Amino acid sequence: MLLIECPYCGERSELEFVYGGQAHIARPKNPADFSAQEWTDYLYQRDNIKGVHAERWRHTHGCGRFFNALRDTTTDHFITTYKVGESPPAALNTAKVGP
Ligand SMILES: [Zn+2]
Repeated sequence: MLLIECPYCGERSELEFVYGGQAHIARPKNPADFSAQEWTDYLYQRDNIKGVHAERWRHTHGCGRFFNALRDTTTDHFITTYKVGESPPAALNTAKVGP
């Protein structure tokens, strides 16, 4: 069984968590100035990283809070977790698959 460290509750079973997508996607500051293509990119385009990826997770069957995690997509190993609003640790690798 995979264990995930919730930064608020501690280590719990993966069954208590839900993946929430890529972390650190900032909402545009001036949304009225965005073109249709820029909105499409903001809403639907995400990195497809082979290696360490910053992800958002939610402890749905625990505290219910969102948090961020660095996970290696090649091994499914969680390197670290951290609270929303904190910067990602320096271990973040931005190697990507595809263009
Ligand atoms: Zn929790």
